[in-house]
Amino acid sequence: METPHYDTAVVGLGCAGLGISYYFTMKGCKVIGLEKNSDSGAMGTSSYGFTRIWRVTHADKLRNDMMRESLKLWREIELAVGKTLLENGAILNFGHPDSEFLKGIFSQFPDDPVIDGDEIMKKYPAFKNVPKDYIGMVTDTDCGVMRSNECLQAVKHLCLEQGANFQYNSHVVKIENDAQTGYFIITLRDGSQYIARNVIVACGYQTDKLKDETIEVMSYEVENFHIEEGYQGLPDAFLEDTPDHVYYGLKDGADLKSYKIGLHEERNIDAMMSYFQNRFDTNILGHAGENEKNKLKIKGSQPCFYSFGKDKKYNYSRGANGVYYAYGFTGTGFKFLPLHGKIMYSLVEGEDTGLDYPWLKREVMIARI
Ligand SMILES: Cc1cc2nc3c(=O)[nH]c(=O)nc-3n(C[C@H](O)[C@H](O)[C@H](O)COP(=O)(O)OP(=O)(O)OC[C@H]3O[C@@H](n4cnc5c(N)ncnc54)[C@H](O)[C@@H]3O)c2cc1C
Repeated sequence: METPHYDTAVVGLGCAGLGISYYFTMKGCKVIGLEKNSDSGAMGTSSYGFTRIWRVTHADKLRNDMMRESLKLWREIELAVGKTLLENGAILNFGHPDSEFLKGIFSQFPDDPVIDGDEIMKKYPAFKNVPKDYIGMVTDTDCGVMRSNECLQAVKHLCLEQGANFQYNSHVVKIENDAQTGYFIITLRDGSQYIARNVIVACGYQTDKLKDETIEVMSYEVENFHIEEGYQGLPDAFLEDTPDHVYYGLKDGADLKSYKIGLHEERNIDAMMSYFQNRFDTNILGHAGENEKNKLKIKGSQPCFYSFGKDKKYNYSRGANGVYYAYGFTGTGFKFLPLHGKIMYSLVEGEDTGLDYPWLKREVMIARI
């Protein structure tokens, strides 16, 4: 049997696996990428969809620093493929004055004006019934909407150009370490095998299926609603943090002319629907809006999953048998696609990330799991 040898095998070619393959091939590594679906970003994976929000407007310094680092790599990618993947646009973060999330954002951007409920509705008339005591902040630099499926295809293209061997429809079922050579043998469902010096598993919420030791990978369901073209008076993206739940919206579709709303932390869909009826002029659940012209129509809804590690931090680690892992990127990991690669390269090959945070130090990542 032919057993090709690679420096690094990357299992799972979603956002993380592609980011890793991109960075490793850029550094000259011979990479084999194995993905069980027929393409990256397939339905049912966390990377599925047209758009994602990107922002240097997180409520914490860490993720803003990570985004700045990631942005440098994204700009290189955009230059290499000759197209804009990260569109600049306005993001509104708003909600109840007690929101810790908003307090975090305000503390990161003390010079930006805080607006109240009336000002929010005046600026974005599609929002209805925003309480007067609500507060928010609009940001329009270093943030916007990214064309996520185009990002995946662009990075995939660069990986192939840089020499990666990507095998789709390749479901990995076993990873073993050959004690004699120290190499890893990766077995697919159809019995074929690949041999590599290192293996990185980036299988999102399915990562724990490829571990022979116990790890906690929690999957979290989010519901998306797609809204037809013709919405008016909404920012490019927004996030509302209420005492009961968090939800977000952003431009969507191949031409960015439709809109997508995602629900976080809300298990009661009926309650959420009635919340939307109150907040938007929409016909969700048959509700007829007052203003036909501005009425938002729901096109369809779709559940989607993402993963958490046990401590809710992104998990870049090495298992006891020497296999590396990159997972747990929650609902915020897409914008860091190339940075996942840089961080994993620092973990595997020892290069400094330039990010001075204890949990991103190599020895801490190695000790993680
Ligand atoms: C609805 C939603 C909205 C989001 N919004 C944002 C946002 O606005 N901004 C942002 O930055 N992030 C956002 N995120 C988060 C971001 O999309 C995820 O963090 C990211 O996509 C995770 O990528 P991943 O590669 O870890 O996982 P995945 O994309 O799930 O990739 C894992 C891959 O591994 C493959 N695989 C699994 N098992 C095997 C196996 N045994 N063999 C071979 N292949 C295998 C899967 O098929 C899949 O392709 C959102 C996520 C969701 C779900």
